[in-house]
Amino acid sequence: MAKKKTAKRIAKAAPFDKATAAERVKKIWPLLKKTYPDAKVALNFTNPLELLVATILSAQCTDVRVNIVTADLFQKYTSAADWAKANVKEIEEDIKATGFFRNKAKNIKGACARLMADHGGQVPQTMEELTALPGVGRKTANVLLGNAFDVPGIVCDTHVIRLSRRLGLSENSDPVKLEFDLADIVPKKRWTLFSHLLVFHGRNICRARKPGCPECPIKAHCPVADQPELW
Ligand code: SF4
Repeated sequence: MAKKKTAKRIAKAAPFDKATAAERVKKIWPLLKKTYPDAKVALNFTNPLELLVATILSAQCTDVRVNIVTADLFQKYTSAADWAKANVKEIEEDIKATGFFRNKAKNIKGACARLMADHGGQVPQTMEELTALPGVGRKTANVLLGNAFDVPGIVCDTHVIRLSRRLGLSENSDPVKLEFDLADIVPKKRWTLFSHLLVFHGRNICRARKPGCPECPIKAHCPVADQPELW
C-alpha cells in the first residue's frame, strides 16, 4: 500500500511526457557517461554461454556472489554439452550459494539441452530464439544481446525501473512496458550503455533508500530532486 502511494506521488512529481522525457535523456546522457566512464555489466564472463549461465544465476543474488561462484564453475563446465549432460543434483550443489538453486539448476540444464538440440551448442543471437530457452526472459535476453553480441538491448532491472520512474522517463513499473517506453526515447545505439549507466547511478547515488540528491550530477534535470517526502 505504502509502495503504491509512493509510486503515485512520484508519478505526480515526475509526470510522463514523451517529448520531455526524450529531451531529459539527451541532457543526462553526457553527465552520466562522464560520471561512470567504466559502466559495464558487472558479471564476469569470457563467452556468451558463460554470460547466459551467470545471468540466470544472478536472479535474486548479487553480481559479486555470482562472480565468486562462477570462478570455479566455469572451470568445471566449459560447454553447453557439459551442462546438458550433468546431473541436475550436482549442478544444484555447485550453484547453491546463489540461492533459488533448484530452479536455476533446472533452467541452466534445460537451456543448455535446448542449445544442444537446436543451436549446435551455441547461444543464439536473436530475442526470439533467446526467449525460447527455458528460464530466459526479455531481461536475460537483453543482457546477452547487449553484452555478448553487441546488439542494442535495454535491461530493465530494479535500478533501471526505479530511476526511470523518478526521472519521469516512464510511468510503468512493469519491466516489459518500461523497456518499450525507454526504447522510444533513447537512441537505439545507446540502449545497452544507457541501462548500465542507470544501474551504476542507482547503485552509487540514486539508491532506493536515501538517494544522494545533494551529490547527484543529474540533479538539475531530475523532477523529484531534493524531495525526500516522495520516498
Ligand atoms: S536528484 Fe536524487 S532522485 Fe533525482 S536522480 Fe539524482 S539522486 Fe536520484
